[in-house]
Amino acid sequence: MNDVNIYKDIGSLLASSKNTVVVTGAGISTEAGIPDFRGEKGIYRTLGEDKVMNLINVDAFRRRTEEFYKFYRNYFMLPKVKPSRAHYLLAEMEKKGIIKAIVTQNIDNLHQKAGSKRVIAVHGNADNFICTKIGCPTMVDGDYVRSVSDLVPKCPQCGSILKPDVVLFGEPIQNHRLARDTILNAQLLVVIGSSLTVYPLAGFVGEYCASSEKFIIINKGPTALDHKATVKLDTDNTGKALEEILKYIE
Ligand code: NAD
Ligand code: ZN
Repeated sequence: MNDVNIYKDIGSLLASSKNTVVVTGAGISTEAGIPDFRGEKGIYRTLGEDKVMNLINVDAFRRRTEEFYKFYRNYFMLPKVKPSRAHYLLAEMEKKGIIKAIVTQNIDNLHQKAGSKRVIAVHGNADNFICTKIGCPTMVDGDYVRSVSDLVPKCPQCGSILKPDVVLFGEPIQNHRLARDTILNAQLLVVIGSSLTVYPLAGFVGEYCASSEKFIIINKGPTALDHKATVKLDTDNTGKALEEILKYIE
């Protein structure tokens, strides 16, 4: 099938659904300038998955905090970028009632910056840092952490260590139940820019596929659930793809 027919098919599935949920991964933000983990410039390729997992875990944060922060400051403080065309188009699609919610694995806050309202983030927000002292509600942003001279940033209120508000290996995801319910209750699920290999979110998508036929994937290269897709669009430009698809809805 050529791309125009795929755009048409996706457009008509979107037009006939009353509850479309979008699941996004790192691939929607590469066009904004943030590399994914598994792509050519991604840290799984450049540093190796083992090295990343050995440091970006909750045990390393607790026991080897300096080493953790050295790595975190180098590789996880995301560049300040603007949302991509695809982020803006998804926000517009929500306003028009074409989609109802976004469940994202991304930690870059770009959906919210683009204006999407119903965003369920399961891996947190890399620009927020929270105090580790129980009962201290302090949260600061990345600019504060960049501005302090200490390698390990401390809470400006109580002096305790700050932790990035991202889900580290070994920690439960955020919004687990809401994310799963939102996905399972969808009438149409659209995955954009995810290899669908990171759990538990990939598991929720797998569960959805077991009981529903309406499933769209827009991604560069293969995903773990391509065989379940009603329509698969292979593209490295998700912004252009959404623009084309919208022509067949309006
Ligand atoms: P992934 O790296 O497993 O998969 C990304 C997918 O997107 C790949 O299949 C890749 O081929 C595809 N892709 C890359 N650029 C694309 C483009 N321009 N158009 C279409 N597809 C494109 O990502 P994931 O499944 O989201 O999981 C990775 C994990 O890394 C998650 O836990 C996530 O929290 C984290 N992560 C987040 C960010 C971010 O917030 N922007 C960036 C890197 C990693
Ligand atoms: Zn504090």
